[in-house]
Amino acid sequence: MARYIFITGGVVSSLGKGLASAALGALLQARGFSVRLRKLDPYLNVDPGTMSPFEHGEVFVTDDGAETDLDLGHYERFTGVAARSTDSVSSGRIYSSVLEKERRGDYLGKTIQVIPHVTNEIKDFLTVGADEVDFMLCEIGGTVGDIEGLPFFEAIRQFAQERPRGQCIFMHLTLLPWIAASGELKTKPTQHSVKELRSIGIAPDVLVCRSERTIPEKERAKLALFCNVRPDSVIAAYDLKSIYEAPLAYHREGLDQAVLDAFGIHPAPKPNLARWEDVADRVFNPEGEVRIGIVGKYTQLEDAYKSIAEALTHGGMANRVKVKIDWVDSEQFDEGDAAPYLEGFDAILVPGGFGERGTEGKIKAAEFARTRGVPYLGICLGMQMAVVEAARNLAGMESAGSQEFDHESGEGARFVPVIYHLKEWIKDNEKIARDVLDDKGGTMRLGAYTALLKDGSKAADVYGAHRIEERHRHRYEVDMKYREKLEDVGLHFSGISPDGQLPEIVEYKDHPWFIGVQFHPELKSKPFAPHPLFADFVRAAKENSRLV
Ligand code: GLN
Repeated sequence: MARYIFITGGVVSSLGKGLASAALGALLQARGFSVRLRKLDPYLNVDPGTMSPFEHGEVFVTDDGAETDLDLGHYERFTGVAARSTDSVSSGRIYSSVLEKERRGDYLGKTIQVIPHVTNEIKDFLTVGADEVDFMLCEIGGTVGDIEGLPFFEAIRQFAQERPRGQCIFMHLTLLPWIAASGELKTKPTQHSVKELRSIGIAPDVLVCRSERTIPEKERAKLALFCNVRPDSVIAAYDLKSIYEAPLAYHREGLDQAVLDAFGIHPAPKPNLARWEDVADRVFNPEGEVRIGIVGKYTQLEDAYKSIAEALTHGGMANRVKVKIDWVDSEQFDEGDAAPYLEGFDAILVPGGFGERGTEGKIKAAEFARTRGVPYLGICLGMQMAVVEAARNLAGMESAGSQEFDHESGEGARFVPVIYHLKEWIKDNEKIARDVLDDKGGTMRLGAYTALLKDGSKAADVYGAHRIEERHRHRYEVDMKYREKLEDVGLHFSGISPDGQLPEIVEYKDHPWFIGVQFHPELKSKPFAPHPLFADFVRAAKENSRLV
């Protein structure tokens, strides 16, 4: 049975709880333990799939097809453990499951209440897969004191109480604000936050304090005394130049040791940090820089493309270059010339997206990259728009477009739907059916699907494989009936689903590097195992920049 580490936050949000959890997971692995990380989100959406990227950042997709919080991306990038749908839950999902049971009559005769029905549902969720690992790290979203978070806090309190002693610990992340006028780091907000936590029956074992300045011994002792935490369990979390420094930094500050002490694990196995030392070396000692333009719609909020930015960084690490990302809003050249916005990049990436706004600009970005020989990676919508570009400008289908932007087809439709709404497909030998008018939540083609790569293609060369599995999240597909027409003008379908129905990868042979993928490769990239597409894309960018 796993030991549990519950990670909560206080004082303010956005302190990097997800990163701290992920780094701790990596450190426990470095000491030879197996881990799984889990996120409990208090919001009422059933999952973040329907939330705007502006609002919530990227939606991270698991192999088993769950649309989850972007923190699961951090977890995977730091531990390499593939997240599952059972690693992410929200109040919405918990309540919807409780209400479903109520309607079914599972609780017949009972009044349904937050305690015990909702808290039991949360506790059931916590135990899934607990036999498989040494440590289960569960992060509670939001900050202590939020009304909607209360059932989660109550559930983890009960959970710890019901386990044998020493099987669960609580780690609380707070902020020590620096008051310039008095030249002091303030501990009071942390004291209040811990007081709030204790008032609901949770006493933290480890306190992680974000701070811009070195925490003096005096403040550390004060925190220990007032928050009832051992002095060596007050861990400093200073600002970092790179998130990939986090495991080493937290280790230096004694986080993993404090956690193992709290569990009474003696002697603690020695850590092997070679992986993270190598990662840090690659991040901090690049031998050059490449500039990559990400041409998308949600460019004001970097979190909207979190995994892509990280995967590019990993690609840079593989090539020992720093990847400088410039965010380009494609709407600026929906009309007009794209060149002034795109000249000067060593490579161009068009990421995924939804809706028509900005897509004419993306089509122009694909055209620019194709005609100027600039390396191009199109992901999901970025692939679809590259196909539309080829159809319009090479295959003479002037009104080629996507059904996503106009549901009409035939007479009167604005576009010839080269990209069409997929109504039926096969997953794990089962037929899945969808209609345009279906609910929006959880109804896309989601999760891992196999693709077969064509012999001699750039894709097969880059992957060094003929069969790959990648994660999907989209409703529309390139229509296979245009394959011949597009291949005749040079756009090859180099990756296709095993049943031959769904195009997964397209590429130009007579271009230095032009690949479009229907899936999201960025979701599987790790700093210690950069995704081959990103590693080779950055290599091509480096070549284009004449660094080599
Ligand atoms: N909007 C497109 C679709 O649904 C692309 C989705 C994406 O880029 N993730 O097919």
